[in-house]
Amino acid sequence: MAEKPEKSKAAQLKEKLAAKKPGGALTLEKEKIALADEFCEGYKAFINTSKVEREAVKTTEKIALEHGFEKYDVTRSYKPGDKIYVINRGKNIGLAVIGKNGTKNGVRLVIAHIDSPRLDLKPNPLYESNDLAMFKTHYYGGIKKYQWTAIPLALHGRIVRLDGENIDVSIGENDDEPCFCVSDLLPHLSREQSAKPVAKAFTGEDMNVLIGSRPFNDDKESEQVKLNILNILFEKYGIVESDFLSAELDLVPAFKARDIGFDRSLIGAYGHDDKVCAYPGVMAAVTVENPEDTFITFLCDKEEIGSDGNTGMQSAFLRDFIADLAQADGVEYRHVMAKSTCLSADVNAAFDPNYPSAFEANNSSYLNGGVIITKYTGSGGKYDTSDASAEFMGQVRRMLHKNDILWQTGELGRVDLGGGGTIAKYIANLNVDVVDLGVPVLSMHAPFEVVSKVDVYMAYLAFVAFFET
Ligand code: MN
Ligand code: MN
Repeated sequence: MAEKPEKSKAAQLKEKLAAKKPGGALTLEKEKIALADEFCEGYKAFINTSKVEREAVKTTEKIALEHGFEKYDVTRSYKPGDKIYVINRGKNIGLAVIGKNGTKNGVRLVIAHIDSPRLDLKPNPLYESNDLAMFKTHYYGGIKKYQWTAIPLALHGRIVRLDGENIDVSIGENDDEPCFCVSDLLPHLSREQSAKPVAKAFTGEDMNVLIGSRPFNDDKESEQVKLNILNILFEKYGIVESDFLSAELDLVPAFKARDIGFDRSLIGAYGHDDKVCAYPGVMAAVTVENPEDTFITFLCDKEEIGSDGNTGMQSAFLRDFIADLAQADGVEYRHVMAKSTCLSADVNAAFDPNYPSAFEANNSSYLNGGVIITKYTGSGGKYDTSDASAEFMGQVRRMLHKNDILWQTGELGRVDLGGGGTIAKYIANLNVDVVDLGVPVLSMHAPFEVVSKVDVYMAYLAFVAFFET
């Protein structure tokens, strides 16, 4: 038998010193991939019922209640192992499990956002034009407007009537319901449109949604088609036109989450950013029992428009909740924050083989490469971001390594090509160690985004490990 040739000196040294390229899902055992597939069945169900933040809060509350969480009561005292949840204005939810140490060694935070880019209705949305009824919209978050034309849209949200009644709306998701769409110009007549830069070819004021075309009756009144829509809305929801003034109505893609690829390894859906981190965060919170330190999975709103407002991450809501927990433990809130750590659970752009030049191959995340740790986001010379410390990066890396979790690091695309941010900087400003850790996404912010099932499952394992250690 021939002797196995010894590795060359260079090969040995390489093995010792050079960073190993993540092998992706290729390196995973079959059993782990099967677990990922199973986990993602739950994720698809979650995302289908969580298209807007209010719905994500409701879906999450249901999961929390099924797992023995109780609504937080500031007048009660809690003991280690107790599971509680808080809701802010129907648009944020936090799931916390009280640790053996309470908050005195800091809290562990996993924070994801549950708002996604979409088309919101303007306060005066309804009008008639050339015998068609239309809604005026104002887009929410960063969208490429052309992607939102000529696709089925569903309407979600809440209308508050003058009598104070709240009317929840969800129409266009089921096959037996009507849906809506923004028209686009046919290619035959697009010579002028096609010659423009994309940002100018599709403007915000073009994003008008088709909602009806039949008149109310044959009386000689103006705007009969609009009147007919008002009549339908009155019969269905008991609303009049002025009730749109006190409403939050969002048009979102009417697609359901679908497996992508012959091998079903990927999921296409609307709103992966950032429900794809929210769901693993929620499931980690209902998995880990009796932690050492109190942990919280928090789902925030308004990330896509700068985290402002009382349901955005710059709001005092989460801080005040932690302050209440600290007070109950007899410790100062500021001392709790100084010892706290956070995984800002948000997506990053996966390397796209169709657009390789937008990425720098050595510092990009890849589908099936596992969770992506993003040390800093921002734009230009690292503006508008928190840059995680080497120490905290080291801590997170050790945790992932120890728990055999597939992970990778990367930036958001090529330097100076654009940029973006997450909630990490707002948490860092509270004197907390934080880094972005989430799932790589293809076609981010498109009506139909793509993620890998393995990566979604790795996010769950990472959050479980974070809460457990
Ligand atoms: Mn995001
Ligand atoms: Mn986003």
